[in-house]
Amino acid sequence: MDLFEKAALLDRIYKIYDEFSGNLDVACKKHCAHCCTCNVTMTTLEGYKIVEYIMRSEHCDLNNRLNNGLNNRLKQNLSKKRFQPQITTNRLAELFALGMDVPDEDNNFLWGNCPLLTDDECPVYPVRPFGCRCFFSKQDCREQGSADVDPFVITVNNVFLQYIEHIDSHGYSGNLTDILLFLEPKNIRQAYRTNTIKNPDNSLVSNSMIKFLLIPPEDRNRIVPILEKLGSIKV
Ligand code: SF4
Ligand code: SF4
Repeated sequence: MDLFEKAALLDRIYKIYDEFSGNLDVACKKHCAHCCTCNVTMTTLEGYKIVEYIMRSEHCDLNNRLNNGLNNRLKQNLSKKRFQPQITTNRLAELFALGMDVPDEDNNFLWGNCPLLTDDECPVYPVRPFGCRCFFSKQDCREQGSADVDPFVITVNNVFLQYIEHIDSHGYSGNLTDILLFLEPKNIRQAYRTNTIKNPDNSLVSNSMIKFLLIPPEDRNRIVPILEKLGSIKV
C-alpha cells in the first residue's frame, strides 16, 4: 500500500470515529486544553501528515511560527520526561490474548503540556493525531482534576488505535515529540514514503498488524456496528 492509500484510509478511519464521537455527551470544548499533554503518542503515518501540514501550510503565520519555533520546542522537550510507549496497541492486544505479562508503563499528566500547544489552541488541529481526537471526558477535567471517560469509549478508542497501527504496520509508534523529530529530515520522510525507514534509536516501537482485537466481553455486542464500518476498510 502506498502512502496516498494509507493517508486516505486514515481519513476514512477518522471520519468513522467522528460519526461515533459526534453522539457522545461530553464536556469538551474549544480552548479546553488540559488534556494537551506532552504524553500524546501517535504513529509515523499520523506524524507524517502533521509534518507535511506544517511544511506546506498556506497559513504563512503558522508556517513561520512552527518552522522557527517548533524544532526548538520539540528539542527542548527531548530532555523532559514524557510518556514513551514500550509497546504498541496491537502488541498489547496480542499479549492479553495469549495471557502473557504486559509491561508497566509510567505516565503522568503533570509532566507538562504538548510542545505544539499555543495559547490553548492546537496549531495542527485539522491533522491532529487520533490520540488527541479520541480524548473525551464526561466532566470538565479542570474542575474534576482528571478525566471521566466512559469505559465503552476506551474500548472503541483501542480498536481505532489498532486499525491505525495496522495500516501503518511498516512504520513506528511513539511519543509525539519523538515521532515529529524523527520525521523532520527530508530523507527520512522520503524513506517513509517508500516503506524503507529504519528506527535509529529506541525511542520508537515497531508497529504490527492486528492479530487480536482488544475488546472486553461486555462490549462485544455493542461494538459490532462500529466493527462493521471498520471492516469495510480493506488493508
Ligand atoms: S478531555 Fe478534559 S481537558 Fe480535554 S477537552 Fe475534554 S474536558 Fe477539556
Ligand atoms: S497535537 Fe494539538 S490537540 Fe494534540 S495534544 Fe498537541 S496541541 Fe493538543
